[in-house]
Amino acid sequence: MIAYFVMECAVDSRIPTYSGGLGILAGDTLQSFADLDVPAVGITLLWKNGFIEQKLSNAGAQLDSVQEWDIEKYMQPVNAKIKIPLGDKDITIIAYKYTIESTKGDNEIDVYFLSPDCPENDDETRKICDRLYIEGGLTRLKQEIILGIGGYEMLKAIKFKPFLYHINESHSAFLIASLMKDINDLSRVKSRVVFTTHTPIPAAFDKFEMKDVASMLSRYCDKQVLYEIYQEKLEDNDELNLSWLAIKNAKNVVAVSRKHKFVSESIFEGYKIKYVTNGIHHVKWASPHHKMLYAKYLKGWEEDPDLLRGAACIPDSEFAQAHILSKEILIEMINSENDASFIPENFTIAMAKRVTHYKRNNLILTNPDKLIEIAERKGNIQIVFAGKAHPADPDGKFIIKSIHDSTQYILSKTKKIKIAFLENYNIHMANMILSGVDLWLNNPVRPLEASGTSGMKASLNGVPNFSVLDGWWLEACMEGINGWGIGPKPAWSDLSYSSDMQDLNDIYGKLEFNILDLYYKNFADYLKIMKMAVSSIAPYFNTHRMVSEYVTELYLTGIIMCYLEQEKAGICDI
Ligand SMILES: *Cc1c(COP(=O)(O)O)cnc(C)c1O
Repeated sequence: MIAYFVMECAVDSRIPTYSGGLGILAGDTLQSFADLDVPAVGITLLWKNGFIEQKLSNAGAQLDSVQEWDIEKYMQPVNAKIKIPLGDKDITIIAYKYTIESTKGDNEIDVYFLSPDCPENDDETRKICDRLYIEGGLTRLKQEIILGIGGYEMLKAIKFKPFLYHINESHSAFLIASLMKDINDLSRVKSRVVFTTHTPIPAAFDKFEMKDVASMLSRYCDKQVLYEIYQEKLEDNDELNLSWLAIKNAKNVVAVSRKHKFVSESIFEGYKIKYVTNGIHHVKWASPHHKMLYAKYLKGWEEDPDLLRGAACIPDSEFAQAHILSKEILIEMINSENDASFIPENFTIAMAKRVTHYKRNNLILTNPDKLIEIAERKGNIQIVFAGKAHPADPDGKFIIKSIHDSTQYILSKTKKIKIAFLENYNIHMANMILSGVDLWLNNPVRPLEASGTSGMKASLNGVPNFSVLDGWWLEACMEGINGWGIGPKPAWSDLSYSSDMQDLNDIYGKLEFNILDLYYKNFADYLKIMKMAVSSIAPYFNTHRMVSEYVTELYLTGIIMCYLEQEKAGICDI
C-alpha cells in the first residue's frame, strides 16, 4: 500500500479543498491509481472553508471571501479518532472519507481528509484547518503536524500498513519523525519515503523556527529525534526547512519534469534527483464534445490514453466541429457573465491560472498599442483571463488590477479586441476555458515553472499551447507542429531567467506573423496543429503514464529496497 500525502487535494469540482496545480495533480493522480489498480490511499486535510471565493470590484480589485461547502453531502465521517500531543494540548483528529471510483467503476481509492474540528477540541484548535494557505506561522506549523503526524497515526488507527510514504511537496514531511519514532533506524526510514518536490522557488519552502517545532512536538518525540532526522543540531532560533527535512530522509527524490530536475539539483546541492514529468487525467479533462469524438474514433481511449495518438486521423470536419461546439459553450458563458460580446468566429486566447508575479498573467497586455496594431492588421482577437491571487500577495492583486485597467484602455481604443476576466477560476470553469479557446497562453518566468499541467489539458482538447519553454513544454514542444514556444530554448542545465522584453517580442511577433495568419487565412493548417496537439501530447502527458513510471521506477524499487533492508536487519514487516 502506498500512502500518498498532500496538503491540498481536488477530488471533485464541488469540493473547494484546493488552490491550484498541486491539488489538481493530486486528484488526477489518485484517479489514475484507481484506474490502474495501484494499491494506495490518499491523506490530506479537510479545508472547511476552502481557499478563497473571488469577486472583482468595478475598479478591478479582488474581493475575497470564504468558500462554504457542505462536508457531509460529499464525504463520509470515518469511525476512528486519534489523539496527538500538540504543544501542551492533546488534540483529537477526526477524518472524513471520500471514495474515488475508477473510470470503469470497478475499483476504488479512499482519500482521508483529516480535521481537528470536533467537540473534543477547544475553539482555537477546531479552527486550525479552516482555510488552505491563508494562515502562516504557528497555525501553519500545526496544520502540517496534523497532516504529517496526524496522517501517519490515523493510518495506523484504521489499520493501514503502508510500505511507502509518498510526500508530495514538503508540507507533510513531519511524518518522518513518526517513522523514526517507530523504526528508529535512519536508513530503514529512508527506504520508506519517496519525496516529490513541486516548486523550484526556495522562498516558497516551508520553514519554522526550531524552538517552535520542538515545543509543538515536545510530548510526541524527543528533540534528539528531530536532530537525528534533520542530521544537524539546530539552535532554537535556527530555521527547520521542511524541504530539506524531506530531501535528507527520502531514498528517492523526484522532480516533476526533466528541466525541474536540473533546477532542483542546483537548489539541493549534492543530492541526486530523479524526475517523472507530471500529467493530467485524460478522461477528467476532455470536454464533453471531445469525449464523444474520441469515443467514436478512438475506442478504448479512456482505458489506454496511448490511443489518442490516432487523433491525427480524425476527419477534419468532425474535429473542427467538436472544437466549435466547445467554443460556443464557453463564449455563451463569457457573454452572460461579462457582457463582453465575444463571438465564436473570432480568434480567442486564454490566460487562466493562479495570479502571481512569476506567472506574468498580464504580460500580453504590456504594450496595448502594439496589440491593437496587430489586431487591426491581422484580425480580431479575444482574450479571456481568469485566476485568483493569494489574499496576502500584493503583486498578484496588482496584476489583476492592471489587467482590468489595460482592458479599459484597449476597449476604448479599438473594436478589434475584446477582453473578459472571469471571476472565481475553478475546475469547472477551467474545463470550459481549456477546450473552448483557440490558443492556450502560458508565460511564466523561466525556469520557475516546475512542470505546469494546464497546457496539457488544452492540448488534449486540441487547443495548441503557446508557452515559455520551461517545465513540461520544454519536453513536448515541436515548434509550429503541435504549438509554439515563447522565448529562447534553454539547455537543460541553463538556469538563467527569462527576459520580459524578449518574451514579449516573441509573443507579439509569433501572434502577428505565424499564429493569426494561420488561423484567419489558412485554417486547414491551423487545424493540423490542433490535431497534432492531441496526437503528439495526450498519449504521453497524462497521469496514467506518470503513475506507471512512479510504480516501476520508484514504488517497486522502493519496496525491493525496503525488503533488502529488512532482510539485512533480520526482520520482516512488509
Ligand atoms: C490545471 C489547473 C491548475 C494548474 O495550472 P498550471 O497552469 O499548470 O499552473 C490550476 N487551477 C486549476 C483550476 C486547474 O484546472
